Amino acid sequence: MSLKLFKNIRFVALARALLFMPVLLTACATGAPSAAKPPQVTPTPMPEADAKFYAFVKSFRDTAIAAGISPGIYDRSMAGISRNPRVEELNLSQPEFVKPVWDYLDVAVSPKRVNDAKAELAANGTMLANLQSRYGVPREVLVSIWGIESNFGQAMGGFNMFEALATLAYDGPRQDYARKELLAALKMEQQEHLDPKAMTSSWAGAFGNTQFVPSSFLDHAVDGDGDGKIDLWASPADALASTAALMNQAEWHTGEPCEYEVRLPKDFHYQDADAANFKPMDDWRKAGVKTALSAELPAGPDQGAIYLPAGARGPAFMLLHNFNVVLKYNNAASYALAVCYLASQIEGDAPILASWPRDEQAMTRDERMAFQNDLKSLGFDPGAIDGVLGHQVRAALRAYQVARGIPADGYPTQDLLQRMEREIAAKPH
Ligand code: CA
Repeated sequence: MSLKLFKNIRFVALARALLFMPVLLTACATGAPSAAKPPQVTPTPMPEADAKFYAFVKSFRDTAIAAGISPGIYDRSMAGISRNPRVEELNLSQPEFVKPVWDYLDVAVSPKRVNDAKAELAANGTMLANLQSRYGVPREVLVSIWGIESNFGQAMGGFNMFEALATLAYDGPRQDYARKELLAALKMEQQEHLDPKAMTSSWAGAFGNTQFVPSSFLDHAVDGDGDGKIDLWASPADALASTAALMNQAEWHTGEPCEYEVRLPKDFHYQDADAANFKPMDDWRKAGVKTALSAELPAGPDQGAIYLPAGARGPAFMLLHNFNVVLKYNNAASYALAVCYLASQIEGDAPILASWPRDEQAMTRDERMAFQNDLKSLGFDPGAIDGVLGHQVRAALRAYQVARGIPADGYPTQDLLQRMEREIAAKPH
């Protein structure tokens, strides 16, 4: 999933949920939904949604033509598409359970994935070495992204890109994103002389080996294998070169890692642990932060942020500049952690030393809403009561934790939910 998608979709929909919700839109490597055949459209009366969809397809033709798309390209791309109910469902659904980060990493960085990545690294050695020397992005990072985005090209998404994007575009919460991407998809088709029926994507319009979105293609894609065309589906060399180019433009620092595991002192000030809170490395040294093996923090990047993907009871990571570059590719901290961790495992680094709080029970949607309601009734503003435990909920939770003198990691747990319920029950009415 690429830069633009996250600037748009994930920022809007996921930024609130970030840090907690492993990749929702990258359905690909972990089992992309297959292209669901839309149900037979009833001729009369045409449902309102279908009418709205076809009206959009008709009116967007003028927009596309005004943007330089030939009428022929538009007509053949949109011919035969219908409103896709599966895309709508995926766009609007909220999971009953949010997968905890350890479950996500178990799949994203499984032993099989590490082995497959090593095999791909060996099989594509020259191509990857060339990309590394040209763009400065390590081959292990490129192979990691390839593995996590599409399981090395095996799961690139089975939706018709135009149908998926038009479904998101005619109505609903991602219409601005989808209209922009639909136009970019048409430009891409026109520019590269692609067959629209062969342009398959995820439900959100991400496509090819490294799941670019069309606008990222227009901004960053390059011809990696030198055959004169750019094909991110058929050519892993094109897809990986485009990914490397994007990360190079996002200012990857050659020779620096993106994160490493750390150990926090007993008296650590947990409010400081936030993936976005970059501070001078010396501040962390003074605070008593050590490497996972209890050594002094190494020389190198002079700024870092502490990230606790599973709260104070789980592993802690020092995020460096390059972590933010991976976030520009896909703005979810758990995704960036998976990419960086997989890359380190391909290189043969030690696995994460601290254990995950695997006994922690995931909250149901109702429990997540109760969590928000409880914070609210105790006087801490969690924002909308929507079952999405995003940044504002974390901030409210941290304020609650500070007020109660408990580690302010902002990580919602069943224990905290019960604690708040007890407090509310004991409150005089
Ligand atoms: Ca090519």
